[in-house]
Amino acid sequence: MSAARARLTIDLDALGANYRTFCARARGAEVAPVVKADGYGLGAAQVSRRLWAEGARSFHVARLEEGEALRQALGPQRPAAIYVLDGAVSGSAPRLAAAELIPVLSTAGQVEVYGAYARGAATPLPCGLHVDTGMNRLGLRPEEVEALLASTDRLAALKLELVISHLACAEAPSHPLNARQAALLKHAHRLFPHARASLANSAGVWLGEDFLFDMVRPGVGLYGSGPRGRPDPDIRPVATFEAPILDVRAVSAGETVGYGASFTAPGPLRAAVVAAGYADGILRSASPGGSVWFDGAPRRLLGRVSMDLIVVDVTDCQAAQPGAMVEILGPNLLLDDAAKAAGTVAYELLTRLSSRAQRVYSGNI
Ligand SMILES: *Cc1c(COP(=O)(O)O)cnc(C)c1O
Repeated sequence: MSAARARLTIDLDALGANYRTFCARARGAEVAPVVKADGYGLGAAQVSRRLWAEGARSFHVARLEEGEALRQALGPQRPAAIYVLDGAVSGSAPRLAAAELIPVLSTAGQVEVYGAYARGAATPLPCGLHVDTGMNRLGLRPEEVEALLASTDRLAALKLELVISHLACAEAPSHPLNARQAALLKHAHRLFPHARASLANSAGVWLGEDFLFDMVRPGVGLYGSGPRGRPDPDIRPVATFEAPILDVRAVSAGETVGYGASFTAPGPLRAAVVAAGYADGILRSASPGGSVWFDGAPRRLLGRVSMDLIVVDVTDCQAAQPGAMVEILGPNLLLDDAAKAAGTVAYELLTRLSSRAQRVYSGNI
């Protein structure tokens, strides 16, 4: 094993356990993982192969290219569906069809263009439809859905198999928008009775039966967050990010540490210099206030996060020696807690983990 290098360990058995937790919670609704953004930074290929082994047969990605790469990565394992949440963006129809990807059409214009393209195909092209129920991001507005129903020829060459919407406030169970969005999707589903319906992301699965519909689309929960932006015993940590100590040095009272001299030692302390920085995915906003885990306790960051290094307080910690690994994220320093300390969410922390770290997959693929 190479020395002095950060290491990202991805526990595929924990991923599998999280998938099974979602299956139990979904009560028969299909659990169709979201593996966009390279599986939330953890490797879409490896993650998807393990999820396939757990029984996942439909997947969601954001981009066309992610769908093409997933198709390749799964090789002979042929999922029932790879949904592309961007939909059919301009000019992408031939590539979507060639890779047998299913666009979740998300604007009236996309329905028009993909419907026209489908008329030249030998058989109806499968598609999904995103309806907006309050997010005001992607999705047809209710009046656009009505207009679509009034001119059914636009759908004639398409096989609409899934109607989805996306929750804006799933992490806030008492938010009134949740129930309103579920009711609006229920209404839209009645207009397309032959399609299946899907609303819940990870946190949505925890909102209860009214939110499960036919399919749920968990992402971040599979990868160890939440389900509601805070740690939960039902969800196992998947990613462990560690980096080696390069040096341990004495800092005298009154001396400062790092760029901008933003930290002044109030008394003598021992500081470990750790080989990971913002270029590895430690957010600069983790300082002040952030910590790493070492030798059985959290250790606070001293001074600013720099590109390649952080400095950590290891006063009275004999185990701190060059070469020892500190945990930046993992079973002791949970993703959601680390995110909170950096003023962000688990999603951003995960997707910022850089490729500079060595990647290790543990557990069965
Ligand atoms: C990213 C995404 C999801 C997954 O959300 P999580 O909060 O990570 O579970 C589900 N649906 C859509 C439309 C998304 O964009």
